[in-house]
Amino acid sequence: MIAVSLATANHIIAECWLLATFSEDQGQTTRRFLTPPVLQVHDHLRQRMNALGMTTHTDALGNLRGLWQPHAESLRIAIGSHIDTVPNAGAFDGVLGVVLALELIRLAQLASLPVAIELLAFSEEEGVRFATPFLGSRAVAGRFDPALLQLTDQDGITLEQAIRNFHLEAASFGPASLEAAQLHPRTRAFLEIHIEQGPVLEAEDLSLGLVTAIVGQTRCALNFLGHANHAGTTPMHLRRDALAAAAEWTLAVESIAREGQNLVATVGKISAQPNAANVIPSQVQLSLDIRHSDDAVRAASLRQLLDRAEAIAARRGIQATCQTLLDQPAIPMDPHLADRLAQALADAGLPLRPMTSGAGHDAMVMATRLPTAMLFLRSPGGLSHHPDEAVRPADVANALHVAFLFLQRLVASPE
Ligand SMILES: [Zn+2]
Repeated sequence: MIAVSLATANHIIAECWLLATFSEDQGQTTRRFLTPPVLQVHDHLRQRMNALGMTTHTDALGNLRGLWQPHAESLRIAIGSHIDTVPNAGAFDGVLGVVLALELIRLAQLASLPVAIELLAFSEEEGVRFATPFLGSRAVAGRFDPALLQLTDQDGITLEQAIRNFHLEAASFGPASLEAAQLHPRTRAFLEIHIEQGPVLEAEDLSLGLVTAIVGQTRCALNFLGHANHAGTTPMHLRRDALAAAAEWTLAVESIAREGQNLVATVGKISAQPNAANVIPSQVQLSLDIRHSDDAVRAASLRQLLDRAEAIAARRGIQATCQTLLDQPAIPMDPHLADRLAQALADAGLPLRPMTSGAGHDAMVMATRLPTAMLFLRSPGGLSHHPDEAVRPADVANALHVAFLFLQRLVASPE
């Protein structure tokens, strides 16, 4: 029986705080893709992996990878998360999943579990530097489009050049190294452990959540086209006010989303023309972001919202149009692995809380390649992408314990 102590949990937390000091900015944590502090994190993690007897390398997209392989024929799985951050980040988003995985490998070694574990420290998940997320996991999952190499950052450096600069060995980067970055074909499962980044687990006083799916997402640009006129001389019943229509529709978005089960919809951005105090607004553009774990529910809800926009516009004698900018399907986690995780939670005496992830994660990309599972830890205050981001030691201990029990179950019945 392996016990996970609070001392171990506190050690993991201390490691995350230490890694948070490797930053582009003094006094805050900012670690964009392929910047010098990423190398510092790699050096630190590589030392820890080597101390555990793991072999390590950095792949073509700058993902740090470590392999613990007790026997060549062992069941092989992958575990990981990301080490890049948003600007002025917290210490736990992504990094916690990597540091937890190191401790998990240590526990597997102590218990002589016959399992090979590849630890993946993904170099780019947030998409801050090149405005494109999941570059690291795309390469590992074999979903990396080489056209992405021509993306440029704010300094005009292409992704390809950034990779060459990072590796400091220009000759070695090319199609073959992209090919080599792909996951070993014998890898049977991927597990990501991550903070929830939301308030649900805390509101229900729960330590851990089992992710069943990462929600699908639609983003649209709505346009209400009315007619500008004088704010003093145009009587109310003769107006075609695009902003009043947009306001009515925004409230409809909120109430329709509230009526839906686990549906979230947001109008996050609005601009009015001519945007003057004494002119009736002629044109308003709004953003719509709508997410659900069931693509059919998302599509039906979107239809309902657009019908409402047209009805509001028609009643007010104006026009409503919509342009779809993003239509990303939901990604379910593997049901068999989710069962194993549910059993592991039961083994640990913890309640089962299935939940969907409203945010994207590397697990979403990995799930397109192999069976994938994801475990959430409570986020105190529901806070993330913020320097006050935190975790509770007891939740970290629970997550490590459950992950170990999950490994044991995988080894006992790998099919
Ligand atoms: Zn993250």
